[in-house]
Amino acid sequence: MFNAVSKSPWVVHFNCNSCNGCDIEFLACLTPHYDVERFGILHIGNPKHADVLVVTGSVNNRNARVLQNVYNQIPDPKVVVALGVCTSSGGVFAGCYNILGGVDIVIPVDVFVPGCPPRPEAMIDGIVKAVGILERKRKGEIFPTAPKPLCKFKPSEEQSAETTAIKEEKTV
Ligand code: SF4
Repeated sequence: MFNAVSKSPWVVHFNCNSCNGCDIEFLACLTPHYDVERFGILHIGNPKHADVLVVTGSVNNRNARVLQNVYNQIPDPKVVVALGVCTSSGGVFAGCYNILGGVDIVIPVDVFVPGCPPRPEAMIDGIVKAVGILERKRKGEIFPTAPKPLCKFKPSEEQSAETTAIKEEKTV
């Protein structure tokens, strides 16, 4: 069973507020030019069938729960690959009124692939590294990490006040 998974990891992709740059590069991995399927990596649409979660973009108050919901639907053991600088810190969007930060404030991340956007070769390398981590998790050498509590992702009073001020400014 394990050999089948490590030789053919199934990947589900979640766009978490990305500008689409990382998503386009990730989709390039599926084209005949990069052809990740030759490594057995299969892109699927259902998290319940996946071994690897690939995330692009940053976390905000709206998508934090959705991201964690997708993560929770993937059976254990699983690995998460975060593509692009937005997933690690918010990237160019860090500091915007609705951005909370990188995806690791909501779910555990196994591999970060830096870049804005990263090249498809780097993305494939990150996924292959993640499959190595998945193998160690299956052997019990690495224990799964629980998702982060979501209670802190309710908008703070300061954020709510800021959002209201921006909305009022737009309506004037
Ligand atoms: S890392 Fe760059 S390309 Fe990727 S989602 Fe962020 S801004 Fe877009």
